[in-house]
Amino acid sequence: MDQEPPKTPWICHVCDESGSGESLTCCNCFKVTCAQHLKHVTSLNPETGLYQLMPICLDCAIREALH
Ligand SMILES: [Zn+2]
Ligand SMILES: [Zn+2]
Repeated sequence: MDQEPPKTPWICHVCDESGSGESLTCCNCFKVTCAQHLKHVTSLNPETGLYQLMPICLDCAIREALH
């Protein structure tokens, strides 16, 4: 019998949509976010001096845009 990897249900904190399997987490607020509400922005890593793609949720994206 094949053993399936355990599926962890998650709920997007923006739209309350639930999903299972691999969850996406915002790197800013660490909340679980669905693919539609998570976007990748380039952000400068002060430690390496290199630009990295950071997954951030819609909430944080709006918050940063308001700054
Ligand atoms: Zn969502
Ligand atoms: Zn966030």
